Amino acid sequence: MADRNTVECLECGAAIRVRVGAEIGDTTTCKQCNTRFVVVDDQPVEIDFEDELEWDDDWDDDDDDD
Ligand SMILES: [Zn+2]
Repeated sequence: MADRNTVECLECGAAIRVRVGAEIGDTTTCKQCNTRFVVVDDQPVEIDFEDELEWDDDWDDDDDDD
């Protein structure tokens, strides 16, 4: 059996390797287009755009304007 899961980048279609044992909520980045994804299912592994997921807390990005 393969020791890695491979999923297709939702942005550019490149293969993204997700480590076996990845859990829902883990993040991964496409090496081709640098889009960040989050693991949303683990059997089989599925990913979704990190930006589109709504988390409980508001995320504070680096680019504050002060
Ligand atoms: Zn990509």
